[in-house]
Amino acid sequence: MQIDFKKLAQKYQTPYYVYDFDYITKQYEELKNAFKARKSLISYAVKANSNLSVVQHLAQQGAGADCVSIGEVKRALKVGIAKYKIIFSGVGKTDDEIRQALEFDILMINVESEAELKRVELIAEELDKEARISIRVNPNVDPKTHPYISTGLHENKFGVDINTAKRMYIMSKNSKNLDPIGIHCHIGSQLTDLEPIKESINIVANLVRNIKSALDIELKFFDVGGGLGIVYDNETLIDTYEYAQAVLDSLFGLDITVICEPGRFIVGNSGVFVTKVLYEKTNGDKRFVVVDGAMNDLLRPTLYDAYHKIEVLDKDSDQSKCNVVGPICESGDFFAKNIELPKTEHNDLMAIYSAGAYGFTMASNYNTRGRVAEIAIENNDDRLIRKRETFEDLIALEEEYLK
Ligand SMILES: *Cc1c(COP(=O)(O)O)cnc(C)c1O
Repeated sequence: MQIDFKKLAQKYQTPYYVYDFDYITKQYEELKNAFKARKSLISYAVKANSNLSVVQHLAQQGAGADCVSIGEVKRALKVGIAKYKIIFSGVGKTDDEIRQALEFDILMINVESEAELKRVELIAEELDKEARISIRVNPNVDPKTHPYISTGLHENKFGVDINTAKRMYIMSKNSKNLDPIGIHCHIGSQLTDLEPIKESINIVANLVRNIKSALDIELKFFDVGGGLGIVYDNETLIDTYEYAQAVLDSLFGLDITVICEPGRFIVGNSGVFVTKVLYEKTNGDKRFVVVDGAMNDLLRPTLYDAYHKIEVLDKDSDQSKCNVVGPICESGDFFAKNIELPKTEHNDLMAIYSAGAYGFTMASNYNTRGRVAEIAIENNDDRLIRKRETFEDLIALEEEYLK
């Protein structure tokens, strides 16, 4: 990816996010091809990067959408993702969200508890509908990733254990308002080890066979979740083809469509966050580089202690250790600690890589900072896909209540 960050900074100011749409296409196609031996659906996890143009770009490639709020479902529908390719997951869907999902007639609601299944049944009955559902199984497998992005252990809030899942399938089968069509598991994010994935997929595939023989329920969709890791630093990745092969092997003898829900894998390395150096300062012998971006723009270093590769552009002077920090009034406001960078000057540009996933979508307005501009690069052309927020945008919902 060759992006002229300087030109973009002149045109759109800083900070900004820029995404390489051709890279997004390439990642999508790699995964789609890996599963081509079977009927499959790649449902993009919208929460990774929910900019409408990003989701539209994936819709045009044929992707479906994995959504965790009705807002995300609406984004997917708005940019033309077919309703029969949309899945709605999450542990805490409200009545209203369930009702809307049923009215939109999306592919399925991915149910995460018995209590939720009862709500879905009740609401489907009110609407005189049959709700297509899948059940999220928690296989109790340790994905060996950061605890905040680990979801497949019983200690995590996600999904239900195998015995509960069986009860829920029986209940669904006996209900005229529920149609159990799928099974789902998603054990965590930024996974770099295939073994835990294989283990959990095998557990779930056995459950599929079991409910077929014991309960006479023939599921149509096997949703293996997302979670494929990407390179931030020097990670060794799971090979996409080995991954797909492991999934296909586990499904031997079953006629079932595979659904995969990648987020980070598709967009993570498409994106760069670009910020400008404001000042350098030292406190004692500690060196700080203060930039115009902050934790409200890119939260991952603060939230997960995540590593992002950082480069000062057009500088090759001697390097020394420093912390890269933003202007926010929190000591947690940093992009990196104790990294080697050259001496910087006012207005130097800094690129923070691997920022396409869980970057902008986690941004806030903390410290009354407008969210930054988002830019797409496609066929070597740049275009704005989200305007920088202005002060007027930030106060728009409050102003009318002033005394
Ligand atoms: C977050 C999430 C994903 C996507 O995870 P990535 O690590 O970004 O691939 C997929 N499925 C579900 C249910 C999720 O919550």
